[in-house]
Amino acid sequence: MDDKISGSCHCGLINFEIKNNPKFTVNCHCDDCKRRNGSAFSTYASVDESDLVFAEGENHLKKYKVENSGEKYFCSECGSQIYNKNYRIPGLFLVFYGALSQPSNFTPTFNVFCSSKLSWVDDINKIKSFQESVQK
Ligand SMILES: [Zn+2]
Ligand SMILES: [Zn+2]
Repeated sequence: MDDKISGSCHCGLINFEIKNNPKFTVNCHCDDCKRRNGSAFSTYASVDESDLVFAEGENHLKKYKVENSGEKYFCSECGSQIYNKNYRIPGLFLVFYGALSQPSNFTPTFNVFCSSKLSWVDDINKIKSFQESVQK
């Protein structure tokens, strides 16, 4: 692949590249991800640990450790989530889609923990929508 996959946090202190295409991409609907990330569901690109390379700001990563489950890494300045390490999938990092510069290049390939999926997610297109912010 020619185009590099890159990403950053919101404040710009942390910049990274992903050297190879993700192994898989996934929406996780589990309650732990909802709580930790403050979102209705979380979308991740799973990459080899050695493929995630920090160009700037690795020293600004802060770790939140979840006992027996994994670790979440986020920017200590702006709080943007960068990646998770899940102990059930050793050798891989789960990079948050929102941290990627071009998340639309990778459509998630599967959903997990659908037993916890919020009921409105499947019908998101039925919710009144605007191209930008709400207009009267
Ligand atoms: Zn930041
Ligand atoms: Zn999850």
